[in-house]
Order: sequence, then structure tokens, then C-alpha cells
Amino acid sequence: MESAEIRRRWLRFFEERGHTVVPSASLIADDPTLLLVPAGMVPFKPYFLGEVKPPFPRATSVQKCVRTPDIEEVGKTTRHGTFFQMCGNFSFGDYFKEGAVKFAWELLTLPQDQGGYGLEPEKLWITVYQDDDEAETLWRDVVGVPAERIQRLGKKDNFWSMGVPGPCGPCSEINYDRGPEFGAEGGPAVNDERYVEIWNLVFMQYERGPGFGKDDFEILGDLPAKNIDTGLGLERLAMILQGVHNMYETDTLRVVIDKATELTGVAYGADRGSDVSLRVVADHLRTSVMLIGDGVTPGNEGRGYVLRRIMRRAIRNMRLLGSTQPVVGDLVDVVVRTMGEQYPELVEDRKRIETVALAEEAAFLKTLKAGTNILDTAVTETRAAGSAVLPGEKAFLLHDTWGFPIDLTLEMASEQGLSVDEEGFRRLMKEQRERAKADAKAKKQGHADLSAYREVADTSGTTVFTGYTENNGEAT
Ligand code: ATP
Ligand code: MG
Ligand code: MG
Ligand code: MG
Repeated sequence: MESAEIRRRWLRFFEERGHTVVPSASLIADDPTLLLVPAGMVPFKPYFLGEVKPPFPRATSVQKCVRTPDIEEVGKTTRHGTFFQMCGNFSFGDYFKEGAVKFAWELLTLPQDQGGYGLEPEKLWITVYQDDDEAETLWRDVVGVPAERIQRLGKKDNFWSMGVPGPCGPCSEINYDRGPEFGAEGGPAVNDERYVEIWNLVFMQYERGPGFGKDDFEILGDLPAKNIDTGLGLERLAMILQGVHNMYETDTLRVVIDKATELTGVAYGADRGSDVSLRVVADHLRTSVMLIGDGVTPGNEGRGYVLRRIMRRAIRNMRLLGSTQPVVGDLVDVVVRTMGEQYPELVEDRKRIETVALAEEAAFLKTLKAGTNILDTAVTETRAAGSAVLPGEKAFLLHDTWGFPIDLTLEMASEQGLSVDEEGFRRLMKEQRERAKADAKAKKQGHADLSAYREVADTSGTTVFTGYTENNGEAT
């Protein structure tokens, strides 16, 4: 089943059951506490918090999401992308636990010729929060899941709150058993690659008090109106329904891998290291296009920096695969074509997206060779001094003058067996920001625009890029 069909079936199923279909919001969150939208519930937050009266009691959406904290997992686990689409159904004080559990089971197991996804019930494993007897009873006695396929988990995995006083509650997750090829049995509590999490049901039923972070807080009591917030990863379901090994091999991403193979001559499946690179390229290029499509431009702060990191990481992985020419134009083209089916605005905006992406590639390629030389020298010096830690000043110099995002430096240093003094790097970054602020205040003419300095640094390098062939080992 194609991704587009998974999406259609989702929306149709919930629309037929009284949910209002709400289009995906932009990745740029309309929320000062968030850089980018990491989950489907974000556009509905004011309803859940009781700040705005919901215009409908039930909603459904397929929301574009970006999760940068998952960047290190990309290509290595089978199921984490920096961009993915979260299918959701939401109840604002309407149906609660029983309704959510029944809808989820029905849609997943309904035969495909009746509009469902047709998953085999025996492959589905359930987790519930350790104290949530009610959820366990519903799964076992109402839905009929055998007790041995229901597991209890603690706060870390199965309790949701926003980290601040407000609504919170237990979750229940649906996981799919991909079989012994993915490791030992024992259920999602012991093996999250074999029993892959596909759908999270959040039961917002309590009011939480102040406290520290996600785990350490008191529950003040029941919420006056109980809500449902669920999220299913479209790419994860696609991976199962398309019978492929990982989310990067599903229809909308595989074409990007194939394009990268065509551009580099490196076959997919030839070697673990190059496979990780190919998957990183596919994921990161798609994320870049989706971010630029929503109006993010590469820069040194905030969202712009997220985009820059992701794009530069993709480009460097193409170099590791042996490409010596600009590649971004061809890769952007294939992403726009495939994602454009579901997001036609990408097709309309193709020219601008391409222009932004190509400019970033040109800027990076100009400095990559020189930066790599600086890094190699710094590595030699560090080793000669008997240390295994690259100084923070070097990482800062690479960032500030050569446009190397910190994780690029981390990656390249680790390939040569060194770690990086990240704390020192962050201290220098902070000092620089404070200097810029102070300067701006003194001059009283707006704040110092760091991106302007960056442009100068990017364009004043005279080195012609001659290809990146060092460290052709395993890309991370
Ligand atoms: P995991 O434990 O696998 O990291 P999660 O618990 O962080 O997932 P949730 O916050 O519960 O994920 O998000 C709801 C659903 O969104 C998940 O069940 C999964 O299907 C999907 N999802 C979450 N993160 C990603 C990601 N990085 N790439 C693809 N799909 C994701
Ligand atoms: Mg996660
Ligand atoms: Mg999880
Ligand atoms: Mg989860």
C-alpha cells in the first residue's frame, strides 16, 4: 500500500466516524516554546490547555513533523527520520479511553478490502502505563488482546506531560512484531526494533502540578474534560505494509536513495557504511525540502541552523559516497516530485526551494575543503600533544569561519578517533552571542546580523572544491 493511500484511508476512517479533517499545519510552529512541530497535537494545544474552545469535538490530521533529537538514529535504527508524518485522531472532551482503543484496533485490523490496513491481530503487542489497570482491561476484555501480549511500562515510556503544569496522563502504545529477523522475542518492553512502535494513544486525564521536568511532579487530580491525543507514524506503517526492512526503503524515500545511487555509483545493499550514508542522504534531503518549503532558510540560529546542519550533513554523506560534483539539484528534484503528490505547494514553489538549496550547497562546498584541512591539522596537533580531545576553540573556529555545524566536526573528529570539547565550544558560542548582543545595544541599530558575517566567510574563501575523499570509512 502506497504512502498516499495510507494517508487517504486514515483520514477517511476518522472522518466517517465524526472527526473533522484538519490539514497539516506548517512545520514552523505557531508556538513560542517550539522551533519546529514535533507531533500532531501541536496545532491543537490551545484546545487541550483549555485556552481556546475547540470548534469541533473530534479532529483528525496527518501532520508534518521534524524531530532533530532523532538525528543520530537516522539510518542506523530502522525507524527514525528527522522528518516524518504523524497521523492523529483527537478528542476534546468527547470520547475517551474506550473509544480511542476501539478505533485504533478497528482501523489497524480491518481488512484492506474494507478500507482498513489489514494487520494480523497476532502481530500486535500493547504497552500500557504501569498503573493504568483501566487501559489493560479495555485491551484484554473489550478488544480481546491476550494478556501475554500486553506489557506494562513506566513513566519514561508511557506517561505523557508537557513538562509544565497542565494536562497529563498515561499512554498506551501499539507495537508490531516484525519477526525473528529483527532479534529476540519478549515483546516491546525488551526489544524495540523487533516490536516496532507504530501508534501512541495518549489519555489526557489528570492535571499535573509544578515539579522538575518530565518525570518528577505531583498529580493534582482529574481534568474536568478528558481528552485523547494519538499519533501513528505514517512511514512506520508504510514500512510494514510495503514489507520493507526500514522506513528509508518505503516508497517516498526509496526513490531518493535510488537517485543518490545513480549520482554516486554506490549500490544500495553493498556495504553497511555506505547504506547508512544513503539512508542519511534520503532522510536529510527530504527534511531539507520540507523545511525550505515551509519558509525556513539556512542560517546560524534557530530553525535556520537546524536546516543548515541537516543539509550539510546530507551533502557530506554524498561526498563520503564519492560524489565530487554538486548533487543537491537532482536530489531536491526527486523529493519535490514524490512529496509533491501530497504537498502540491512544493511543486508550485519548486524554483524557490531549488534556489535556496543550491545556494547552501555552493556555500558549503566552498568551505568544506579548507575546513577539512583545518580539522586535519587540528587533529594532528591534538594527537601530538598526547590528547584525544579536540579543543573547543578549534570546533568554534570551524563553525564560525568555515561553517561547520558542530555535529559535522564531532563526526569527522570521531572518524579519526578523537572526541571534541563540546562544553568549551558551547561556552565560546555563548560568549559570541553575548558580544553580538552588547554590540547591537551599543550601536542601537538592531542586532548584529550574524548571517551577514557568515556570508562573508562563506564567499571569501578562494579554495576550489576538489572532492572529499578522505575518511572513506563508515559514515555516521
Ligand atoms: P520511539 O520510541 O520509536 O522513538 P516515540 O515514542 O518517541 O517513538 P511518539 O512521541 O510516541 O514516538 O510519537 C508517536 C508516533 O510517531 C510513534 O509511535 C511513531 O510511530 C512515530 N514516530 C516518532 N518518532 C519518529 C521518527 N523519528 N521517525 C518516524 N516516525 C516517528
Ligand atoms: Mg522517540
Ligand atoms: Mg517510544
Ligand atoms: Mg511513543
